[in-house]
Amino acid sequence: MDRRFPIVAVLLLGAACSRAPVEPMRFAGTSMGTTYSVQLVEIPVGVDAGALRDEVEGLVRSVDERMSTYDPESELSRFNAAASTDWFPVTADTQAVVAEALRVSRLSRGAFDVTVGPLVDLWGFGPAGSPRAVPEDVDVAAARECVGQALLETRGSPPALRKRAPCVTVDLSGLAKGFAVDLVARHLDDAGVRHYLVEIGGELRARGRNAGGEPWRVALERPEDSGRSVQCVVQLVDGAIATSGDYRNFFQQDGRRYAHVIDPRTGRPVEHGIASVTVLAATAIEADAFATALMVLEPEQGLGLAGELGLSVHSILRSGDGFVELSNPGFEKQILH
Ligand code: FAD
Repeated sequence: MDRRFPIVAVLLLGAACSRAPVEPMRFAGTSMGTTYSVQLVEIPVGVDAGALRDEVEGLVRSVDERMSTYDPESELSRFNAAASTDWFPVTADTQAVVAEALRVSRLSRGAFDVTVGPLVDLWGFGPAGSPRAVPEDVDVAAARECVGQALLETRGSPPALRKRAPCVTVDLSGLAKGFAVDLVARHLDDAGVRHYLVEIGGELRARGRNAGGEPWRVALERPEDSGRSVQCVVQLVDGAIATSGDYRNFFQQDGRRYAHVIDPRTGRPVEHGIASVTVLAATAIEADAFATALMVLEPEQGLGLAGELGLSVHSILRSGDGFVELSNPGFEKQILH
């Protein structure tokens, strides 16, 4: 199966300059089935750059090792494999991510739901690598028996998860990358780094300014199935941005597109023609989770929820052979015209 890395839906542009640019420290790698990159504009005096890079790489690796459904030994995979409905001890990080997932699930009225794993697998988008084809309605109905936020609980102390039915599994692909970005950002804050850009699989968080003393500039990709062109450029100073889309991880059958974002309420990939949603938020986990949630909701519903929650949102909808853009004022003012 052609498992392409999830697209970096935001492309990093070079620094515009308002001062003589300093050479930022850059490092990159692969994790969670995708790529990551970190740019640090300056290293505080007394901080060992090599040690800082090793610490950051260790943090990214720790999220992959704990929250992967692609690694059967991860604590999440072991929870998913367990038939028990007793409390299952996990690390505080995994408990925190699942607790945030349940919060976003409640706020999005079930559109975001990390118990969606059985449906993700059924439609061929999960780690099991099952065939990508439209399943029988009876199989969708059976998988939906194991899906729903009410079937999953977390406990903060000691940290643990509990499933209400043995068949429940958790898929954190919709927000764990955002969590990893925030984990790295907090570590850089604690080390005294004041200007940085952290990116994992298209989820980003920026602090301060780029090497040229300007706001960080990230480009949103035009949601075309092939090639990479820029839809618009967004300025980012202190905050996070994440995109969810239907144009990289999908299959076509009988002329219809089926992508990897599933509506838990129907058991089917979303079908209302949103090609991508980008969310600006204070943290990358929120931007990541709400970008997925707003891919599931109807466009107007998504903008309404964003308004309620104070999120800045940009949606690109399919219209004939082209696209129509919808963004709220909070997002509009960040777009570089
Ligand atoms: P997003 O929109 O951010 O998330 C969509 C994903 O969330 C879907 O693919 C599905 O898994 C899930 N989802 C679908 N519908 C919903 C919904 N309604 N509510 C909540 N979630 C939903 N991929 C690999 O190919 N190989 C790996 O080894 C690998 N390891 C990973 C390890 C970790 C810890 C994580 C978090 C992910 C890993 N992945 C791996 C998956 C990959 O990194 C991406 O997470 C995935 O492709 C989706 O990210 P996205 O940003 O494209 O889409």
